[in-house]
Amino acid sequence: MRTDLYIDGQWCKPIKGGTFAVINPASEEIIHHAPAGTAEDIDAAVTAARRAFDEGPWPRLSGGERARYLRAIADGIRTRQAELAQLEVIDNGKPLPEADWDVADAAGCFDFYAGLAEGLDANGAEPIALADARFASRAVKEPIGVAGAIIPWNYPLLMASWKVAPALAAGCTMVLKPSELTALEVGAIADDVGLPAGVLNIVTGFGMDAGQPLIDHKDVDKLAFTGSVPTGSRVIAAAARDIKKVSLELGGKSPFLIFDDSDVEKAVEWILFGIFWNQGQVCSATSRVLVQDGIYDRLLRRLVEETRKIKIGDGLATGTLLGPLVSKRQYDQVLSAIDEARSAGATIAAGGQRAPGFNKGYYIEPTIIINAPLDSDAWREEIFGPVVCVRSFSTEAEAVALANDSRFGLAAAVMSADDERTERVAAALRAGIVWINCSQPTFTEAPWGGYKQSGIGRELGRWGLENYLETKQITRMTGKDPWGWYIK
Ligand code: NAD
Repeated sequence: MRTDLYIDGQWCKPIKGGTFAVINPASEEIIHHAPAGTAEDIDAAVTAARRAFDEGPWPRLSGGERARYLRAIADGIRTRQAELAQLEVIDNGKPLPEADWDVADAAGCFDFYAGLAEGLDANGAEPIALADARFASRAVKEPIGVAGAIIPWNYPLLMASWKVAPALAAGCTMVLKPSELTALEVGAIADDVGLPAGVLNIVTGFGMDAGQPLIDHKDVDKLAFTGSVPTGSRVIAAAARDIKKVSLELGGKSPFLIFDDSDVEKAVEWILFGIFWNQGQVCSATSRVLVQDGIYDRLLRRLVEETRKIKIGDGLATGTLLGPLVSKRQYDQVLSAIDEARSAGATIAAGGQRAPGFNKGYYIEPTIIINAPLDSDAWREEIFGPVVCVRSFSTEAEAVALANDSRFGLAAAVMSADDERTERVAAALRAGIVWINCSQPTFTEAPWGGYKQSGIGRELGRWGLENYLETKQITRMTGKDPWGWYIK
């Protein structure tokens, strides 16, 4: 495990020498002391990224040349897949097969953006048809400059790759402020493949100590943030001061609408996957499930049965499907959200407490809440834990209205045997991602991001690359006649 920050192609101690304890959420043991960067380290990192952008080779390489580095990083991640997945588990708590999936996806993300970097060469200049025949115009894409990226703890390696891969593909340089350890390994892999110094800099540390100086730094051109709505507000406020480009991936309270004609077993499986994967610490988790009257009782009975069977345990133990929550803070917040739901008059149909049989670790039972009042926090606010609210509806219009009655709009899911209905509902849902007959599968090629307070902009796919590109118009006067305005 790394004890140093990665700045300007060097591993270095934080200037003020700070560290923070990394705790394994399964055992509550301190497993490491990670470097805690501060404003001084951020300044050194931004200075390096600025120099690498203004004077270094990176933005001037062809897309194809940058693609070679990205593919080498992808290979480097795959070579260390087993080790990185283990590290993710002891740092974050998630079950090993999930971590393994994340690491493979992270490698795939670098490969995907290598392909788009190559595409930048081929599609370099887009001719613009002008009404005025005396001019020829074209639009070209160029990297925005120095990107400051901040990511949360729930998918440390994957969230890093969603930002680092497109930024590097575009020709930007970057300072990354991650929340957990594995992101530093991306720096190690980038270093191994010979990425030029200063192109990628990684400074771990606390939000106020390292994140805030990054978003405030005058030499950063673009902020890319994933995290909670309150922090997202601070990011956009900081961006507003200097008119930095900004993209935000924030929280959600995503609905899952299940109609009477659905296969109940499939519906139960997708509900479980939609809320208990990664202990429910998923921005797009379908945490509000709406079930049509005709199958509500049967579905709820089956959901409770299957929820109670979920194997809870250390993420490294074979067969674990639900690990501990990431931290004591998250554990306390989720338990208090469940208590508040009870106080608001909701009924706990399954779970609802610390998982029995564990002396140590931040384990919470997978929890189903029914009858949560529509104005309660349980129904309206992101809990970010293994907690799902289930309620019934009778008509399609009622279901859509309930689903859209939220300040969030990240994702939504709908299940029905009637394709016309699912298409109609998908069109009516105010969310950036709509899953039909499933919940959560995520694809590097497809756009990811939220409506309403769930964010601004899109990651992944070609939209993710656009986040790091400027568009330049280049216009040439081709007509031979004098302009003739001042000089006749
Ligand atoms: P958070 O907002 O507390 O922290 C996110 C990051 O911001 C961390 O690295 C943190 O250190 C940093 N930070 C904190 N204060 C800061 C400040 N003042 N200035 C700059 N940086 C600061 O969120 P979290 O608890 O780490 O993550 C959970 C949240 O992330 C949830 O709301 C979840 O929905 C959201 N999320 C969204 C997506 C998405 O794609 N939309 C993906 C994953 C997580």
